[in-house]
Amino acid sequence: MNIPRKVIYFDNNATTAVAPEVFEAMRPFLTELYGNPSSIHLFGGQVAAHIETAREQLASLLGAAPTEVIFTSCGTESDSAAIHSALNLCPKRNKLVISKVEHPAVLNLGKDLERRGYRVSLIPVDGKGRLDMERAAELIDDDTAVVSVMWANNETGNLYPVAELAELAHKNGALFHTDAVQAVGKIPMNLDDMSIDFLSLSGHKLHAPKGVGALYVKRGVRFRPFIVGGHQESGRRAGTENVASVVGLGKAAELAAAHITEETVLVGKLRDKLEKTILETIPNVRVNGNPEHRLPNTTNISFEYIEGESILMLLDMFGICASSGSACTTGSLEPSHVLRAMGIPYTAAHGAIRFSLSRYNTMEEVDFVLEKLPPVIARLREISPYWKKSG
Ligand code: PLP
Repeated sequence: MNIPRKVIYFDNNATTAVAPEVFEAMRPFLTELYGNPSSIHLFGGQVAAHIETAREQLASLLGAAPTEVIFTSCGTESDSAAIHSALNLCPKRNKLVISKVEHPAVLNLGKDLERRGYRVSLIPVDGKGRLDMERAAELIDDDTAVVSVMWANNETGNLYPVAELAELAHKNGALFHTDAVQAVGKIPMNLDDMSIDFLSLSGHKLHAPKGVGALYVKRGVRFRPFIVGGHQESGRRAGTENVASVVGLGKAAELAAAHITEETVLVGKLRDKLEKTILETIPNVRVNGNPEHRLPNTTNISFEYIEGESILMLLDMFGICASSGSACTTGSLEPSHVLRAMGIPYTAAHGAIRFSLSRYNTMEEVDFVLEKLPPVIARLREISPYWKKSG
C-alpha cells in the first residue's frame, strides 16, 4: 500500500490518534498486568483498582459521580443500552422521540424498534441544522418513554439544546438520553447540574483507543443491563473488562479535563482560519450547519457542482484526510441524511466535505491544506458538467 509519508489528519470526528500518554498508561495492562480484575488473587485483583481510577477520571471530566459511569465497548453499545433500558422499564409507554440528524447508532436503532412495534418520532431541523423545538414539544407526549437527541452532530458539529430537551422530556414523564460521542472532551460539561438521565460516549473520539466507551446513568435513574452475564460493572454491564482500554479512556479523560479550555481556543483558531480562507478564496462554497453554536473543531463545507468523493481522492494524494457526507457504501452516492434533513440542495450536498481537527493539528497543516485545496477544486470543476451548466 502506498501511504503518503506525511499524513495531515483532519478527520478527527471519524476517529482520533491515541495520545502518547494514553498509550503509556495502557501498556502495563497489555503486558505484565494481565490479570482478571474479578480474580480473588492479588495479581488479578490489583487491576480492579485501576478500573476505579479510570472511572473517577472519566466522571470528573463529565462532572458526575464515579458510580454513575458504566464502561461499555463503544458509543453504539451505550446508545443501545440506554434506549433499551428506558423502553424496557417503561412498558406502558411505546414511543421513542429522536432527531432526524442522529448518528446511525440511534437512527437505525429507531428503525429496528419500529419493526418491533414501537412508535418512533423524528424531530426535524431547519436549513442550519437547528432543531425545531416547537415540533419537539408537540412530539414528546405522555406515550413517550424516552427522548434521545445528540449533544453534538458528527457531520456539522452543531450543538443541540440538551438541557432544554431533558426538561421537556421530564415534563412529560419521559427519560432523556443524549449521544454525546462527539461532545465529550471537546466542550466542558457538568452533568451534576443537568437533568440528563443517560449519556453515551466513545473512547476513540477523544484520543483513547477504539473498542471502549461508557454510559452515564444518573443517580436514581433505574437501569436494566443490555448485556447480561457476570457481575462486572456492579451488575450493569456483563463481560470481562477491557482493562487496558478502560485505563486508556480514564487517562484520555484526565488529559481532556486538564486542557479543555486552551484546546478549545487553539483548535477553534485552526478551524476558523481554514474555514474563513476557504470561503474567501474559493467561489461557490457554503458552510453547512450553525456557525453560532457548534463544536470548535468541525467545519462542513460544500463545494458546489462537484463530488465530495473526488475531492477526497485528490486530497488523499497529498496525504490530507477528511471526510464526505455521502453514503457511498450503498453505491448510490446519496448525500448524507443530515444534509438532506437540512434541505441542502443536491448540487451542494454532493460536494460536502467535513474537516474535523484535534489538538495534534498545527497552523502549518492548515496552511498546507489551504495551498493544495484550491487547485483541486478548480481542476474538478473544469471537468464537471454541472459546473459548466451553472455558468
Ligand atoms: N454517535 C456519534 C455521534 C458518532 O459520531 C459515532 C461514531 O462516529 C457513534 C455514535 C458511534 O460510536 P462508536 O464508533 O464508538 O460505536
